[in-house]
Amino acid sequence: MLSVHTSPLEQPGTGDAGGMNVYVSQTAQEMARRGVEVEVFTRATSSDQPPLVELAPGVTVRHVQAGPFEPLGRDELPAQLCAFTSGVLRAEAFHEPGYYDLIHSHYWLSGQVGWLARDRWGVPLVHTAHTLAKVKNAALADGDKPEPRTRVMGEEQVVAEADCLVANTPVEARQLVEMYGAEPHAVHAVPPGVDLERFTPGSQALSRQALGLPQDAVVLAFAGRIQPLKAPDVLLHAAAELLRKRPELAPRLVVLVVGGPSGTGLEQPQALRELAVSLGIRDQVRFLPPQPGPALVDVYRAADLVAVPSYNESFGLVALEAQACGTPVVAAEVGGLPVAVVHGVSGLLVPSHGAAEWADALAALALRPDRRRELAANAVEHARRFSWRRTTDSLLDIYAQATRAFRNALDLRTEVAV
Ligand code: UDP
Repeated sequence: MLSVHTSPLEQPGTGDAGGMNVYVSQTAQEMARRGVEVEVFTRATSSDQPPLVELAPGVTVRHVQAGPFEPLGRDELPAQLCAFTSGVLRAEAFHEPGYYDLIHSHYWLSGQVGWLARDRWGVPLVHTAHTLAKVKNAALADGDKPEPRTRVMGEEQVVAEADCLVANTPVEARQLVEMYGAEPHAVHAVPPGVDLERFTPGSQALSRQALGLPQDAVVLAFAGRIQPLKAPDVLLHAAAELLRKRPELAPRLVVLVVGGPSGTGLEQPQALRELAVSLGIRDQVRFLPPQPGPALVDVYRAADLVAVPSYNESFGLVALEAQACGTPVVAAEVGGLPVAVVHGVSGLLVPSHGAAEWADALAALALRPDRRRELAANAVEHARRFSWRRTTDSLLDIYAQATRAFRNALDLRTEVAV
């Protein structure tokens, strides 16, 4: 697996680390459990990182030196792709020919590396985009910076070169075909999973105690990378609107924002705190740094609902994890979120980002315990349909198909040459 710009060893929820890191780590571990050895190539960001790290039995992370030992912005990474590719090819050259059977690249930067390695090694390239620049640019938050043309062109090249493309949802599969000219037969929609052993329903009381939250609080939570695209500001505006309509809630309302700055959010890391002050809800909003898995479980269980107000979301793992913990989700009706959340069944989908509409949706769940309980039970059931085991089953099927097609094409070329 190639994961150039972010490592599965990083804590997700800030900077470049998010759902893709979880995806790579979980599918690699699931593959290893089935006897498929996985090596994940990622860029070294510190001189302390050993060249090889065992993430789990059968999963090795290879730190490739490409550029300085420090985090680089995404705009700086394309210039390091040549060095990274060279590191990948050199690592392979230490082995006997045919060491790797297949390459799975994650995000377009890795796709650029994968396409060259594929040609050198004669193995198929499977690519997952995770997010697409054209889709993101069509749904930007007000004032947010669009993704650059370099990325759009790079993605188009990877789509044209990859043997198979994996999309998170049928909507994303269609976007690859309609916006990027992918061959429909090369695109497979495979839903991501959720760790159903970690994310389970549990005692809200104990989780509130663990987080130091009052038992009678109305808790609205957001978890993820803090950036305009993820729209945590929509939740804050909606909470302020809710308090305007229901001022008696003020002593009990808690808006929990979990995560760290990321993307264009890095330019104004204090913006959300300033917004809370200017909306007059500073006392209601609590910020927590990115939380590792077990602590995140407490956040989900403690919350009356989890909000996912993103302007775009290829899928939205947070929505699935919250539901697996028995917490209904209020999500924007965009991208993959209508797959992750079933409107009126496991949560609510809001068609706009307006404060009034969001405030109504929050109130409809958080202030109606009977409705909340009903959706909470459905949420657990809905989340159970997804698992990393199922995701990995589908990926391994795709790998097998890609390998067969690749070998057939190779045989055909050899016959023609003879
Ligand atoms: N996450 C985490 N700690 C946090 C916040 C988020 O571990 O404090 C993880 C979360 O469990 C989820 C991922 O980060 O698996 C975010 O994935 P999602 O698909 O929701 O968003 P993305 O980061 O891919 O945009």
